[in-house]
Amino acid sequence: MDWSTHSVSNQVDELRDVDLLAIDPALQQHLRRLGAAWALPGLHAYGTALGRSTTFEQAAQANAQGPVLQRFDARGRRIDDVRFHPDWHALLTLLRGQGWMARPFADRRPGRWAAAAAGMLLHGQVEAGSLCPATMTQAAIPVLRRDPALWAWLGERLLDARHDPSDRPIDAKPSIWLGMGMTEKQGGSDVRANTTTATPIGSPDSAEALLRGHKWFYSAPSSDAHLVVARTAEGGLSCYLVPRWRPDGRRNAVRIQRLKDKLGNRSNASGEVEFEDAWGLRVGEPGRGIPTILEMATHTRLNCVLGSTALMRAGLVQALAYARQRQAFGRPLAQQPLMRSVLADLALESEAALVLALRLAQAFEDAEGHAPDPLARAWQRLMTPAAKLWVCKRAVAQAGEALEVLGGNGYVEESSLARLYREAPVNSVWEGSGNVMALDLLRALGREREAAQRLWDDLAEGCGDEPRLRAALHALAPVWQGPTDAAEGQARQITQRLVLLAQAVLLRRHAPAAVAEGFIATRFGPDTGGIFGALDPAALDVDALLARALPEAPPDGL
Ligand SMILES: Cc1cc2nc3c(=O)[nH]c(=O)nc-3n(C[C@H](O)[C@H](O)[C@H](O)COP(=O)(O)OP(=O)(O)OC[C@H]3O[C@@H](n4cnc5c(N)ncnc54)[C@H](O)[C@@H]3O)c2cc1C
Repeated sequence: MDWSTHSVSNQVDELRDVDLLAIDPALQQHLRRLGAAWALPGLHAYGTALGRSTTFEQAAQANAQGPVLQRFDARGRRIDDVRFHPDWHALLTLLRGQGWMARPFADRRPGRWAAAAAGMLLHGQVEAGSLCPATMTQAAIPVLRRDPALWAWLGERLLDARHDPSDRPIDAKPSIWLGMGMTEKQGGSDVRANTTTATPIGSPDSAEALLRGHKWFYSAPSSDAHLVVARTAEGGLSCYLVPRWRPDGRRNAVRIQRLKDKLGNRSNASGEVEFEDAWGLRVGEPGRGIPTILEMATHTRLNCVLGSTALMRAGLVQALAYARQRQAFGRPLAQQPLMRSVLADLALESEAALVLALRLAQAFEDAEGHAPDPLARAWQRLMTPAAKLWVCKRAVAQAGEALEVLGGNGYVEESSLARLYREAPVNSVWEGSGNVMALDLLRALGREREAAQRLWDDLAEGCGDEPRLRAALHALAPVWQGPTDAAEGQARQITQRLVLLAQAVLLRRHAPAAVAEGFIATRFGPDTGGIFGALDPAALDVDALLARALPEAPPDGL
């Protein structure tokens, strides 16, 4: 008997089984420009592995069946462990195995930061939660590298390309994961309000201490160690390495109280912990805990920008692939004039985020060494918080718009777009929420006068004679003289202006005219700042933008 009531037609599957790098000409072009051509074969292999439908399915499973806290073992011994779905471990194995996480520190080749960034950009298009432990581990490396003894102990284990999920003392493990613990209940952004104490063991100037208190957010709580900020008797804040196992072989007294039930980022565990005299080893100077952890935070902020850029790209690709096939009112959505405006706008936003993210990554490379480039310093110190605010916010808006291109199909949990939408806000919240980033930009403008001037000169040169850009630069002149108290309330406006200008300058220098001119026409006109697609497509070369965003067929030789 035939039960069917209808045949299924005009339903479009999400794009799968593609090399995520091969379908991204812009990323390839920018990697070559930044000296990372040597990384392309490895990144193509990674893009192929990530783009498989089986990897997308692993990502879906790791999120659908998220981590579970296991406080005790079967016989009642306290273990404070977190159990993950096997696909989570498969994703971490894939991520770590490619070496992109450690690349900037394990490799001296020019372009290493861009290559590492590309690895994150590709991975984040498929599964974002796993970027969290990778980001924190990567970001701890520059901090720990400063201390020869710590580096001798941990260095090889941090650079190792294996994922070792076992719960054992660090000395027994070939590779380790690290996290960070700053946020407490009474205040996250204001780390100075931290109350967790550190009591030196033995003499008052001992680097070993016992920590007592709590952290309200403690992501990847079963990592092998965390960098934790705690207060000493002198009242200053210091930074401590707090491992899961004490050097004497006992379990460290870091109690995971519960896991957060999060909006998104569900594959990854974020805990609440208490330290019941947990053993810690000081990292960095005593009383300099905030600058020490902020070095780590600066690196994590770069990865927030990369993670959000990846989400934007993921949404754009699925939206465009869908719109090219889905028919409505007699022709494909991608041929409907208004949908073309939306898609072109998403494409512009995505490439603008990409050039900005890669420029930031390049700055981290240029800032290394004995005579770091002053412009790199400006990008690290001023543009990192600015870009974090802007790109992470735009990713939230873009995720909603990309989802809508798929109509109702985008809103259901079987769609990767629904997960992407839930994921999008986290990068904006953690590691310095939006306002905190805008205020950090103002602080840096006030303190880093030389770097600010260098950035100004570079932006001025990049604006050329383009009148809209020169006007935008001029609008920043008052705050560049030195921010006043009155600027605080305008900090988001200032950040927005600065980032848009920086993106326009980068696109003028490094992207095809269709992208650069399209971006300037739509971001520096009278209607700027509204919803995606609220533009005049006559000002754009829509065909060129969409072909660059996702070639209909990947060109030969990619
Ligand atoms: C999924 C997830 C994972 C996390 N993982 C970790 C982790 O591993 N380790 C860790 O230490 N933390 C972690 N966090 C915590 C995160 O870093 C904090 O939530 C964040 O820094 C904000 O701190 P808060 O929640 O205390 O908010 P608050 O500091 O109370 O801020 C609330 C709001 O006020 C704004 N604000 C603050 N100060 C000002 C001001 N002066 N002017 C104007 N506005 C202001 C902020 O921008 C924010 O929007 C995580 C958070 C999330 C959501």
